[in-house]
Order: sequence, then structure tokens, then C-alpha cells
Amino acid sequence: MGSKYLVALVVLLAFVGCKDKEQVVVEEIAVVEKPADIYEFGFNLNDFVVKRDTIRQGDSFGVILERNKIGYPRIFSIAEKARDTFDIRRLQIGKPYTLLCSKDSLETPKCFIYQPNQEEFVVISFQDSIHAYTSRKPIKYVEKSVTGVLNSSISQELDKKGISPILTNMLAEQIYAWTIDFTRLQKGDSFKVIYTDKYIDDTIYAGVHNVKAVVFNHKNTPYYAFRYRTDSIKNIYEYYNEAAKDLRRAFLKAPVQFSRISSKYNLNRRIAYYGFALRPHKGTDFAAAIGTPILATANGTVTESQYKGGNGNYVKIRHNSTYETQYLHMQKRKVNVGQHVKQGDVIGWIGMTGNTGGPHVCYRFWKNGKQVDPFKEKLSQSEPIAESLKGDYLDFIRPIKLKLDTLPIFDESKEKQVKTTVTQKE
Ligand SMILES: [Zn+2]
Repeated sequence: MGSKYLVALVVLLAFVGCKDKEQVVVEEIAVVEKPADIYEFGFNLNDFVVKRDTIRQGDSFGVILERNKIGYPRIFSIAEKARDTFDIRRLQIGKPYTLLCSKDSLETPKCFIYQPNQEEFVVISFQDSIHAYTSRKPIKYVEKSVTGVLNSSISQELDKKGISPILTNMLAEQIYAWTIDFTRLQKGDSFKVIYTDKYIDDTIYAGVHNVKAVVFNHKNTPYYAFRYRTDSIKNIYEYYNEAAKDLRRAFLKAPVQFSRISSKYNLNRRIAYYGFALRPHKGTDFAAAIGTPILATANGTVTESQYKGGNGNYVKIRHNSTYETQYLHMQKRKVNVGQHVKQGDVIGWIGMTGNTGGPHVCYRFWKNGKQVDPFKEKLSQSEPIAESLKGDYLDFIRPIKLKLDTLPIFDESKEKQVKTTVTQKE
């Protein structure tokens, strides 16, 4: 940049100083300033005057071209011929566009390029003949790794390292949702992640593409996760641990063993007692003898445990950011708010407290704050890897696991201590 300005200054001085030398100087500049080819959208931008802008309120393809000195008959024929590729009425306010114009004094537009998103672009070229096409910018994936020790929350640790919060979400929601409760991570827990970042055009960062492998050390237990393609036709990927076990934990089918369903989830239930009035049943009733243990259907944290009206004694558990379960009419509750429970833990006993005609637990299943039918939720994808894939999987993860295991853990708090010691020696 600096040298460019300097050259411009020399030209100016030359013009002012001696008119005879003008031609010579300009030629010299032409040699010095010969710009490197810059390719974008498949064009050498140095061949054009490049005008970049975004679609504004009131803009249309016609308005933009007209503003750039193209007349209406021509605009119509361009729009008409481009129509099969791109309907010019689909231009959206705020999206970027580029005009490639002739390098003469007229700066006549030769090409209109519209970017509906970061990756795609539409070219409407009217240099000689009119033609239009859609293309994509080159995408580059870069494999990276990050390690760390938790001194604060995982999102803060990753943020300190300049890593996108998308990675935290992928770990918490996609990979470990059923294995580790990310709201209960502990100081000293550590992580090593191998992930892929996505770039458009080599330079524009487009976020974390996927997580290839992770080991999360939680309470001194390592939890491995490896991304593996289980279906090459449908392109389905799953995460399994080092022993080829699925990391997703399905809910227990029932909160009570040896019970029978006495009333299903039914939004159209009508009850004779109430004159066949609509009384939707947003739970599933499991009938069993009074005193039968009620089990947490998945790991989670108790968010409610109390006696209240028609519910009687009940417990509510949050499992992750999406799912909660609730257990009504207990004889007695065994857990308190804030308590962490594991799948299968006894949380209370069958009773008939609150509004109920017989001993049962009314099991309510919440998804994003709404009660849904658990039997209609696609939850139980916790199937082990197919036997036919297991050998291939274990071969596939061997080098990746070795890489994970040999990655040094970067602990910022300790790193600082080491640096301090060295400084003191000097
Ligand atoms: Zn019920």
C-alpha cells in the first residue's frame, strides 16, 4: 500500500515538474504498477472497473442497470434471456452484488453478479452475447485441534482461545447431550477436540463445519466421541465412543418396571364423569401397586419436587436443553430440587395423591416446554453400531484416537506459571 501511494506521488511531481517527461514517467509507472491478477467469480478483476454494492430499498435489476447507463430495451432482453437461470425479481435487500464494467471512460456494465448467500453467486453476463449461470465459491475445509482445562465454563474457555461458540453447542447438544451434563462441568475437567473449520474463497470464515473427534475428561473419566459415517448412501454420521458404543442415551420406555399403561397420551380424551367433556390427557399413565419404585427415565437434574393440587406429590427432571420429564401422584418423593439423577434411579414411589382414581404414575414428557407423546418422539436412536461396521469403525478411529491421545493439553493457568518461572531465572 505504502509503495503504491509513493508511486502516485512521483507521478504527480513529474507532471508538475516537467511536461516533456510526462510520457516517459507514465510508461515507467505502467511497468511498476502492473497489478497481479485477482480472480473472483471466475473473472480477472483487473480487466474491469469493479463496482460493489448491496441491494437497497427501491433497487431492482432494471434500476441498477439503468443507473449504470444501460437502456431499457437492452435491460428487458437481458432479463428475458437470464430468466431460466435466475429470476431477477428475486433480488433481496441487503444482499451484495458486483458490476464488472468496461475499463474505458464509459464504464459500461458487462456483467452483473449477485450473491444470494456466502457460497453461491449468480452471474448475468452481457459482454457480447447474454448468458447467465449460477456458481459456487470454492470451499476449503481446514482441520484444527483445540485443547484446554476448565477454569470457568466451557464456552468461556473456548471463547478465550478465539473459538466459535458453535463448537460448544456441537459438543453439548449433538455429541454429549446424553452423556455429560454441560451445566455441571467441573473445574479441572479437560478437553481435546479435533474439528474442521470451513472457509469460503480461502478467506471468509464460515464457522465450524464438524467435530471429528473429542475426548472430554469429566470427573477423571475420559469420554471419547468419534464421528463416523454409518450410511454412505444417505450420508448419515453418528458419534460412537472408543468401544463403538453410541453416546446417545434413549429414555427408558417406562418409569416403572412391570407396569401396564392404563391411559395413553390423548389430546382428544373425553370423560363420562365430566359429561363427555374434552379432557385432554397430556401424560401416559402407568398403573402399578402402591409403593412400587418410580425411576428417572434418563439422566438429569431435578427441577421440581413438591406437593401441588391435582398433581399430588410430583417430581420434574430436566435432561438437557430440549427434554424434561415429570412424574405425578407419587405416594412419596425421594429426590430434592437440584439433585442430579441417573437413568434408572428411584425418584419416588407409586401412590394416588392429587387428582387420581387409582394407584398409578402419570408420566409427562416435555419437549421445548411443551408436553408431547414420548412414544411418538424419535428418541431411541441409541442403537449400537451394526456388527458389520464395527471392525471398520475400530480401524477408522485408531489413528484418530492416537492423535487425540498425543495432543498436549494446553492449560492457560499453568502455562502462565511456567512463563513466570522462566522470566525470574533470567
Ligand atoms: Zn395421567
